[in-house]
Amino acid sequence: MIMFGRSRDLLANLERERDDLAARVDALQKQRSSDLQLLDGLGEGLLAIDRNHHVVIANRRFGDLFGATDIIGKPLSEVLRVSDVFDAFDAALKGDESTVQFSVRAGVAERKIEMRALPLASSEIAAIALFIDISTIERLEQIRRNFISDFSHEVRTPLAGLRSAVETLEANSGRLSPEDDHQLRRIMARQLRRLERLVDDLSELSRIESGDLTLDTRAVELRRLLDDLVEDFADQATQHRVRFVVEGDATVVADPHRLQQAFSNLLDNAIKYGGEDRTVTITIEEKGDAGTVRVSDEGEGIPRGEREKIFRRFYRIDKSRSQDISGSGLGLAITKHLVLQQRGSIDVESEPGKGATFIVRLPKAR
Ligand code: ADP
Repeated sequence: MIMFGRSRDLLANLERERDDLAARVDALQKQRSSDLQLLDGLGEGLLAIDRNHHVVIANRRFGDLFGATDIIGKPLSEVLRVSDVFDAFDAALKGDESTVQFSVRAGVAERKIEMRALPLASSEIAAIALFIDISTIERLEQIRRNFISDFSHEVRTPLAGLRSAVETLEANSGRLSPEDDHQLRRIMARQLRRLERLVDDLSELSRIESGDLTLDTRAVELRRLLDDLVEDFADQATQHRVRFVVEGDATVVADPHRLQQAFSNLLDNAIKYGGEDRTVTITIEEKGDAGTVRVSDEGEGIPRGEREKIFRRFYRIDKSRSQDISGSGLGLAITKHLVLQQRGSIDVESEPGKGATFIVRLPKAR
């Protein structure tokens, strides 16, 4: 009887211990899975290895960055073949923190990754590393550098013109003929206007790009808008002996003021680059859901390789070709943004030597 009572107690104890253990394993598993969930929520890739270079933890972002799946327990050399990664982990296993940058292919694109590796004193994990995709930061940095270099270049030309006119005036004070004096002052005024326009265009572009633009959209009769605009350009057209022809009509939904601004740049370009003694034809049509405007000139046209680039800010085809023609290289960038913001599109067609046609499509009014 006594033996029976003891073995029953023993059994009960064992069962309690087993339940206890099961509860602790369960709690540990829950803790581990919530830790992993936490790691999966990280914006950076995370990889942890043990002393033998085997993967202990990899979060979801790491898998996304390197296209790696089912890697827990695998040796590092099977997961990534980047020597910088091995070196950084080796340093971490020796107790040193390090940061390296390297590139990986992601489809056709290349990604720039920054890896920060550090030692970890845990029984299971010996080293851990974070992987940060810095491609976007790099791209933005490149855009910033290009912008500064383009802007300085654009400012330098009118500044040089101004400086040379001012220096000539100063050096020859009182000795210049009235004609020369007048010509120098005209040059100064022209270069100042160029600088002003550059600054105006730039602040306008930055306002449009930041989306800080309220549109006052309504039904707009394109024929009326373009007839008025052609009238505004009459003096400039006469100077270049350019004749405007406007055909057709369509009513679209747009902000008339912003539309005027967009077409002004196209008419300005058609006069500037369309050559002297030529015709600029503006054709307005309704096609499907869109109202379409084609602005065609008879100038030199635009080579195929340049047709996309001319919409970039500061881009001017062959600076020597555009040198004598004033412009900031910002007009088409502004026009494109304005048209896109009004749910429209802009394209260019051209037969080099025979002219260019800019085609603007806008949603038709119902
Ligand atoms: P810009 O102030 O130089 O005129 P734009 O952004 O309006 O700047 O145009 C960019 C470049 O595209 C121009 O410098 C010119 O080289 C080219 N371009 C624009 N319109 C025409 C056109 N109608 N015919 C030929 N080239 C053009």
